Amino acid sequence: MKSPVWHPYAHLKTQAPAPNVVGGSGAYFTLDSGEHLLDATCSWWCMIHGYSHPRLIAAIREQAGKLCHVMLGGLTHEPADQLARELVRITPAGLNHVFYSDSGSVGMEVAMKMALQYQALTGHPEKSRMLSLMKAYHGDTTGCMAVCDPEEGMHSLFAKLLPQHHFAPAPSAPYNATQAHVDHDLNALRGVLERHHTEIAALLMEPLLQAAGGLNMTSPAYLTGARALCDEFNVLLVFDEVATGFGRTGTLFAADHAGVTPDIMVLSKGLTGGYLGHAATLATDRVHDAFIGDSPHHAFMHGPTFMGNPLACRVALESLRVFEEENYLSKIDALSHSLRRELLEDAALRAHPAVADIRVLGATAVIEAHSATTLAGVGTFARERGVWLRPIDRWLYTMPAYITSEAEITHITSVMKAWFLER
Ligand SMILES: *Cc1c(COP(=O)(O)O)cnc(C)c1O
Repeated sequence: MKSPVWHPYAHLKTQAPAPNVVGGSGAYFTLDSGEHLLDATCSWWCMIHGYSHPRLIAAIREQAGKLCHVMLGGLTHEPADQLARELVRITPAGLNHVFYSDSGSVGMEVAMKMALQYQALTGHPEKSRMLSLMKAYHGDTTGCMAVCDPEEGMHSLFAKLLPQHHFAPAPSAPYNATQAHVDHDLNALRGVLERHHTEIAALLMEPLLQAAGGLNMTSPAYLTGARALCDEFNVLLVFDEVATGFGRTGTLFAADHAGVTPDIMVLSKGLTGGYLGHAATLATDRVHDAFIGDSPHHAFMHGPTFMGNPLACRVALESLRVFEEENYLSKIDALSHSLRRELLEDAALRAHPAVADIRVLGATAVIEAHSATTLAGVGTFARERGVWLRPIDRWLYTMPAYITSEAEITHITSVMKAWFLER
């Protein structure tokens, strides 16, 4: 019998049989066929320490011997408390409160509910819509689908089910853009706010790197400008750092590139080093303190069963320790340097007619093709060369684990280039 496992984002009629993973070590995972594949995606960008990291495994084992789970409703425990303190310490100054949940999508749902309730509690119940950006991806739950790019964001089938929000154009100014170019993007954002701010609770964005919506890399000045606009129009600024958090853009958080503190920030993917599913929604005093009051509406009515799971919190703490003790930001810097050299500086690749653009930011690199059909078959091609690559539409990208060596990075980039240059 075929496996009853239903795979995500797959056409059931044409999908290839899924390789069976039996283990992994470092940047590689192992298949039951004996193949070792170098994971260029670090498993949807979360396995930042690679597979079978001894310290993370030991942390889970140790915690499992003490307490695997307990509800956070009315109770607390040391891993939840310690992790919250650590997250407050490392995130932009002012984010002093931590609400846990179990996935990035739910972390974003929490952020949206929090923003809306904040506005209601501070006398603006009419501010009940979100402002999102084109090319955004914020998750697959109903609330999140409604703030993903409504045209290219793969959820158009559900348009009738979804609440209607506002959208501003995706920022087009790249990382090193001139202020004039960024001002063009900010003026578009201002236009939407001027027309609709009376009904907008929060502006949501994936800072610097719109990830699943096409690896759009944008300018830190856009974040600074967005912060000022939000203050001007009494709109909360929500950073979805589910993909960008924990080093992916070269600093610990993308917000750090601009020195901006959002009102609410969401973390997930890299939070536990990928070893368990978890998320955190952080808020400033301004947001948090609005919930202190006497009416029934002051309670925040949300509480996923597994929020603050002790195993997840404990492994997240260990992940952070490894990150800091082993100076991951310098590793990420070296990775970024290699990615630039191998991809951005390759004249033949740049000139290839199927290549629309090449971009690198931190430990993220993408070759954008003009058409998705150009990339049909690249997964099999890469697997035959020992690499696991899984493009998104017309974007062939890598987001490697931070422990990936120089030789392993050039292995990944050589396969990405060979797809265009050696067939
Ligand atoms: C992956 C992702 C999410 C959703 O996280 P899940 O854990 O898959 O629910 C939300 N926002 C961004 C930016 C993401 O990359």
